[in-house]
Amino acid sequence: MEREFEGSVVVVTGGTRGIGRAIAESFTKEGAKVAAFFVSSDKKAEELKSMGILPVKCDVSNREDVKRAADIVQRELGETNILVNNAGIMYRMALENYEESLLDKMFAVNVKGIINTVLEFLPQLKATRGTIVNIASNAGIGTALEGTTYYAITKAGVIILTRRMAFELGKYGIRVNAVAPGWVETDLAAAGRSLDEIEKIKDFIRSRTMLRMTGLPDHIAPAVLFLASERAKYMTGQVIVVDGGRTDYLTHGI
Ligand code: NAP
Repeated sequence: MEREFEGSVVVVTGGTRGIGRAIAESFTKEGAKVAAFFVSSDKKAEELKSMGILPVKCDVSNREDVKRAADIVQRELGETNILVNNAGIMYRMALENYEESLLDKMFAVNVKGIINTVLEFLPQLKATRGTIVNIASNAGIGTALEGTTYYAITKAGVIILTRRMAFELGKYGIRVNAVAPGWVETDLAAAGRSLDEIEKIKDFIRSRTMLRMTGLPDHIAPAVLFLASERAKYMTGQVIVVDGGRTDYLTHGI
């Protein structure tokens, strides 16, 4: 039986770890040729090679780097028809502990990284009438966790970028959608926390989630594959929230 993404060329930024890795592996299993961008995890990049995924060292916050990477993908795999903008970083800080340089770093990767990547891949996406899936966050629509206010600004930026890019690129037949995950157990979510603190956060998330579950990277990847697929061919400018049903905005009465 033909696999769903046979013949596709997929780029996943931040494809070496966490959510991006699950996305890269899922596309590969479905027959796509996949390139995974990363910045520092060379060892994990080697692992990807053995799975048939092309690792490309590329810092999405650097437009020249992305330009070079776009050429490598075209030469090695052919014209990209699916771009997944997943690379992201988070620095937690309370509103009153604002550090401008940390917000600048998040903005450079989470928002400008998407702009750089979309613009450098646009010729390939135009040629293939391709599609883009951006990874936002439920933080970008107001679901709160302590210390994530400034990160949330960047993810709200991803959501509006998704809608505006869909608006401007629709004329080329290019669809642009987003997936907004809730709390997913990855290095990003765990960074700077002890094991005890991670367990506490997980309890908190479960208590605020309809399904009483925290997320795993494999919970997120299927929504990305759906949005990238022909099954979603009449969808653009949309954001699918995948967070087990966070209920911060609902409370039970007695
Ligand atoms: P992660 O485990 O920390 O992995 C991040 C990935 O992005 C790594 O592959 C990393 O490469 C890559 N990366 C970081 N900066 C980059 C840059 N400048 N250029 C290219 N690649 C870069 O993170 P994650 O939790 O899977 O998060 C993936 C996406 O989901 C992010 O956009 C994040 O904001 C979003 N998200 C996460 C959660 C969550 O709870 N985990 C919730 C909502 C949304 P290296 O391995 O080389 O460092």
